[in-house]
Amino acid sequence: MKQSQLFTKTQKEAPKDEVSKNAQLLIRAGYVHKEMAGAYDLLPLGFRVVDKIKQIVREEMNAVGATEFLMTSIQNKNTWTDTNRWDDEIVDVWFKSDLHAGGQVGFGWSHEEPITAMMKNHIHSFKDLPVYVYQFQNKLRNELRAKAGLMRGREFIMKDMYSFSIDEETHNVFYNQAMEAYTKSFERLGLGDDTFITFAAGGAFTEFSHEFQTICDAGEDITYINREKNIAINEEVLNEKTLKDLGITEDELEKVTTAEVGNIFNFGTEKCEQMNLYFDGPEGKPIPVHLGSYGIGITRVMGVIAEKMSDENGLVWPEDIAPFRIHLISINADIEAQDIYDKLQESGVEVLWDDRDVRPGQKFADADLIGIPHRVVISPKTIEAGGLEYKKRTDADANIISESDLFQLVK
Ligand code: ATP
Ligand code: MG
Repeated sequence: MKQSQLFTKTQKEAPKDEVSKNAQLLIRAGYVHKEMAGAYDLLPLGFRVVDKIKQIVREEMNAVGATEFLMTSIQNKNTWTDTNRWDDEIVDVWFKSDLHAGGQVGFGWSHEEPITAMMKNHIHSFKDLPVYVYQFQNKLRNELRAKAGLMRGREFIMKDMYSFSIDEETHNVFYNQAMEAYTKSFERLGLGDDTFITFAAGGAFTEFSHEFQTICDAGEDITYINREKNIAINEEVLNEKTLKDLGITEDELEKVTTAEVGNIFNFGTEKCEQMNLYFDGPEGKPIPVHLGSYGIGITRVMGVIAEKMSDENGLVWPEDIAPFRIHLISINADIEAQDIYDKLQESGVEVLWDDRDVRPGQKFADADLIGIPHRVVISPKTIEAGGLEYKKRTDADANIISESDLFQLVK
């Protein structure tokens, strides 16, 4: 893509009311536009990053046999009354609206009840199980505080997956597969070293749920971790019993600030019993379905990465989720740059070409701010020196390389 065609621009300053580092950086670098507190538009660069995050997660969910679908954001009040979660005293993040045609609807902050209601049309016999489905969906939550930029939106993108299983044993098999798929996803997203499967407040049938917590100063959770033993405990469940159950003492644990990037939850049969989702077992006896619910905060992940991976000059994206792989900067060498740009595109390399008519200094500063992993400069000077100037976003100095070196490098 040519940078002159990106309608977004970098900015020297973030809006005055923006207090979070991730949003300040993402706004300044032209990835997002702030509509209001807790609501951000994804500009072309941000849209590409979110797409890459989604694609990694999609591949991992598909790999455990789940199927992608998409539910509506408009939700039926009745669906939520059976489980008592329509009540604003119980769920404090509802956005609701009256219909002109009469009646009330809610805007999806979660889809556990609607998906369970939907499954009544699909699950009748043990032959209809299991069902594993997931979606990427905009969730709407009337959050009281929205000061953490992309990390706590009033509208945000979540990947939510649901498993409907015949019994506890098959539920547990899938639950563990999902946990592994999450671990792989966060590794591929560049957060593997700092993300911990964390014991957190319980599901309906289990003592604990599992959160995926990533070390991040801007996070809102406190987690106690032990890297060697690979144990992490959310402070909300840190007590003598938990420590004893997990065979660890408090002085072996390090207290860290974390952001919850994902969450997996076992509902047992509770929700399906409340909502009357039963199937006919082998002897014709009605048996309640086991439900599991698995979330990943897609836009929160983008915020966490922006928060953690940056330096004084701007963003530093991991290779696999950067909006482009190569930032090509041309300085008085448009014809030569066009040639390299075409060749890179032909070999399937995602390249952003800064073809704008602006000072070189601004191009370099913008390239650092935008944070694409590889920077290639072409100018009469680099041509005379034998080719192109190359540096990684994280390198201090650049080197001259030949065109064939470049193609070797990106292979
Ligand atoms: P939190 O404890 O941070 O409020 P939650 O426990 O309410 O989150 P879930 O309902 O389990 O979150 O949602 C699944 C995932 O969606 C979370 O693990 C998190 O990554 C993400 N998420 C939740 N709320 C928000 C939000 N307001 N903005 C962005 N991402 C969010
Ligand atoms: Mg939580």
